Amino acid sequence: LVSRKSKPEDTIVTVNGEPIGEGLPSFVFGPCAVESYEQTEAVAAAVAGKGLKLMRGGAYKPRTSPYDFQGLGLEGLKILKDVGQKHGLGIISEIVTPSHLDEALEYVDVIQIGARNMQNFELLKAAGETNKPVLLKRGLAATIDEFIHAAEYIMSKGNDQIILCERGIRTYEKATRNTLDISAVPILKQETHLPVFVDVVHSTGRRDLLLPCAKAAIAIGADGVMAEVHPDPAVALSDSQQQMDIPTFDKFYDSLQVFMKQYELK
Ligand code: PEP
Ligand code: MN
Repeated sequence: LVSRKSKPEDTIVTVNGEPIGEGLPSFVFGPCAVESYEQTEAVAAAVAGKGLKLMRGGAYKPRTSPYDFQGLGLEGLKILKDVGQKHGLGIISEIVTPSHLDEALEYVDVIQIGARNMQNFELLKAAGETNKPVLLKRGLAATIDEFIHAAEYIMSKGNDQIILCERGIRTYEKATRNTLDISAVPILKQETHLPVFVDVVHSTGRRDLLLPCAKAAIAIGADGVMAEVHPDPAVALSDSQQQMDIPTFDKFYDSLQVFMKQYELK
């Protein structure tokens, strides 16, 4: 069902009035994790200040260590919804288990399925039974074929509102947190009819690479770019190495706009 052969025209996923996969690339910014109302609100104000329509934030955080901050859970989703309504932003947040889905639907505009859950087939099927758009991230060690099949699980249950997100894969290379597989973008666009995003934060794990990798993503035809923004990354409870502070985000976003104008991209 996700195959370009079964549907030649691009799928457009509309979230909060923004048609994802049509025309200009979309941007999804927000904190790695929701830590407090104030922290989330500060980022939302910066994102909305750029005229953007979407925001991300993690409430259920899949952390490597059980002793690390696990997220605020439902309270985090409530903060996201409040802040989203205040600033006119559609909310994207990760859900990690089918048992949280029902209550989450009240608070999020897009269900994110994270890299670690790309082959959580019960979660994929449950998300496929909802009528919310799903942002599906590529697994840490998933081939493109496995990634496409994961999207197929969602669509097989009737939900065709899917955004794919390349977020880097694990290779022998240690210079970056993961290896951004930039060629996955045109391959996924050829093989499927779904919009394709690039997450420049979890792929690189390096603040100095966010801008060049975002430019590469846009140049190669990505339908959107995801990155993390925190008012004070040094004290962030997760991903403190690669989140942008608000002035850095300002420059990052403005540079991308200049880049897009310069090359008349899309
Ligand atoms: C995230 O986007 O918050 C996240 C945990 O990313 P990933 O699933 O790609 O590691
Ligand atoms: Mn993160």
